[in-house]
Amino acid sequence: MAATMVQHVTESIFPSSAASRSSQDGPAKPVDLSKHLHLGMFEIGRPLGKGKFGRVYLVKHRPSGYICALKVLNKIEICHDGAEVHVRREIEVHSNLKHPGIISFYGWFHDRRRIFLLIEYASGGELYKTLRKEGRFSERRAAKYAAQVAESLRYLHSKNVMHRDLKPENILIGLHGEMKLADFGYSVHAPSNRRETLCGTLDYLPPEMLRPGRPQYNKAVDQWTLGVLTYEFLTGEAPFEDSPMMTKRRIAKDFVHSLLTLDPAKRIPFDKALSHPWILKYCERS
Ligand code: AMP
Repeated sequence: MAATMVQHVTESIFPSSAASRSSQDGPAKPVDLSKHLHLGMFEIGRPLGKGKFGRVYLVKHRPSGYICALKVLNKIEICHDGAEVHVRREIEVHSNLKHPGIISFYGWFHDRRRIFLLIEYASGGELYKTLRKEGRFSERRAAKYAAQVAESLRYLHSKNVMHRDLKPENILIGLHGEMKLADFGYSVHAPSNRRETLCGTLDYLPPEMLRPGRPQYNKAVDQWTLGVLTYEFLTGEAPFEDSPMMTKRRIAKDFVHSLLTLDPAKRIPFDKALSHPWILKYCERS
C-alpha cells in the first residue's frame, strides 16, 4: 500500500534544539496556519476539560462566529516532560485526518509560552464520563459504539496511522451522539506498519507491547484495544485491571494461550517460550 504523506510541522515551536523536526516519515510539507490564526480572534468561553499540558476551552472564532474547542498547551510543561515529539506528532497526524468519526483539526498557532490547537467541539463530552455515569451500556448501544470506533480505526489504518492510545477518555461524543476519536499524542504515522516504542495506557496495552527487549508490534494493537474497550462498554470495567497482580496474571495468560493454540503451526516454539516475559521474570537463567 502506498504510504500516505504526512505534513510535517516545520516551524520552530519550542525554544531550544528540542524543536528539531520529527523526521519519521517522508518529505516535509510546511503547514503554516499560524499566519492566519491568533488568540485575539477568539472569544474564550468555559473550560471544557483539563489535559496533561493545559486546558481545553470552548471558543468562538470571532470572524466567522464558529464555535470550536481550543486546546492550550504549556510549552514549559511539555519540554519539562520531554513530550515535544508527542505534541509535534499530535499536530502532524491530526491535521492530516478528515473523517466524521474523528474530531476535526482546524489549525494551530503559538506564542512564546503556549501552543494552541483549534479543534472541533464535541458537545456530548467524554465517553468516559457517560460510561461512568451509566455504569455500562446495553448490547445494542455497545455494538453501535464499537462499530463506529472500528470505522474510525479502519480509516486511520488506511492512512497508515496507528492510534495506540484508545480508551474511553480519548473518545468524545458529538452533537448527535456519535463517537469522535480525539487525542493523537500517541498516534504515529508508520508506513512500515512496525513500531518498537512502548506507549499507551497500561490497561489497554496488548501483550505484544509487553514483550521484553525491543517489542515489535503493528497496527493490530488498535484491534486489541477495541476489544478491551468493547468489554468495558458491556461491563463497565476494564478486563485487565491496572494492578501489578493483574498485569502478572495477564502475562501468564499470554504464555498459556501461546501454547494452547489449536493450530499446531502457530504454537510458540520452546526457544520463544523460554524467553517469554513471564518465564524471564521468574526464572533466573545462566
Ligand atoms: P485532552 O487535553 O485532549 O486530553 O483534553 C482534556 C479534556 O478536555 C478532555 O478529556 C475533554 O473532557 C475535554 N475536551 C478535549 N477536547 C474537546 C473537544 N474537542 N470538545 C469537547 N471537549 C473536549
